[in-house]
Amino acid sequence: MSRVFNFSAGPSALPLPVLEQVQAELLDWRGLGTSVMEVSHRSKEFLAVAEQSEADLRTLLKVPDEYSVLFLQGGAQMQFSMVPLNLLDERKRADYIDTGYWSRLAVEEARRYGEISVAASSVGLGDMAIPPRETWQLDPQASYVHYTPNETLTGVEFHEVPDVGSVPLVADMSSTILSRPIDVSRFGLIYAGAQKNVGPAGLTVVIVRRDLTGRCSPGAPKLFDYKRQIDAGSMANTAPTFSWYVAALVLKWLLGMGGLEVLAEMNRRKSETLYRCIDDSEGFYTNRVSPGCRSWMNVSFHLVSPELDSSFLAGAEAEGLIGLKGHRAVGGVRASIYNAVPERAVDALVDYMMRFRTRHG
Ligand SMILES: *Cc1c(COP(=O)(O)O)cnc(C)c1O
Repeated sequence: MSRVFNFSAGPSALPLPVLEQVQAELLDWRGLGTSVMEVSHRSKEFLAVAEQSEADLRTLLKVPDEYSVLFLQGGAQMQFSMVPLNLLDERKRADYIDTGYWSRLAVEEARRYGEISVAASSVGLGDMAIPPRETWQLDPQASYVHYTPNETLTGVEFHEVPDVGSVPLVADMSSTILSRPIDVSRFGLIYAGAQKNVGPAGLTVVIVRRDLTGRCSPGAPKLFDYKRQIDAGSMANTAPTFSWYVAALVLKWLLGMGGLEVLAEMNRRKSETLYRCIDDSEGFYTNRVSPGCRSWMNVSFHLVSPELDSSFLAGAEAEGLIGLKGHRAVGGVRASIYNAVPERAVDALVDYMMRFRTRHG
């Protein structure tokens, strides 16, 4: 058996020790003679997984007590609906910061429920930079400000949490959660589809300040109500047990690695190695993202000629470097280098990129 280096944007690479543990205990989990998928989500064995995963996530992100942690279904895009349905007040006004593809989809969905204002947009910057904070047109009466800390398609990332005063800040952290320490107290709500940096698809992590819950729109589906989910321990209906169990193993793995300070250092190094290779290529590879907002997680680049894309990708695949095709909306190449992608995967990619350039440059 040979494992490839997987740069897929999502679902994405999982840590090998986690997959090995899943394999080892698949048929007989915790001596029950059955797999974790085949027992009740309300069994004491599964409840222990639920409890431990919440405790580990709280430790990793230093989540303050006044925040609840939820493990839900529906992906990040279901949060595009749940956030407005739960957080909009009677005036139904919210501000969104548009930095690309995912923020735009969030705006489009929120507009079904309220009066959404795009307080700043990266359109004028070719989606290659974050609009400067002093240009944002924020409404101090808005119910919340929504932003996307990392735009996964282009690889445009905020390296600081923006100051939005006392209005609750809501973040779609799908492609950056757990990649570094964050100050959770700066946020009203954080959500993330698990399939990039937390675990398998099918699970969504939500961290919400409890005082923002309890006023869900009466017309909303009951499972969309954060308060109901908090009261039910994320089990207002059957939980996605297998995804949750794998995510719990990933959280343990992160703790074993030394926590998020260590991961941040690794992630910064991995991205620097790749950007250096691009910047030193004399225009053969280009990344147009403004230097201050280059993503640590998704490194996108174009080749000097788009005709080379397919032979670049095919050659990479032949060497066991997969998942590098850029999103259809952006083209080119994208290397997603989440927590589970080891430094030697990045080294292998850089080595391939240098040889490819020598051959075709
Ligand atoms: C991948 C991604 C999503 C996708 O949402 P799903 O509903 O989980 O498919 C949303 N937002 C961001 C920033 C993403 O990277």
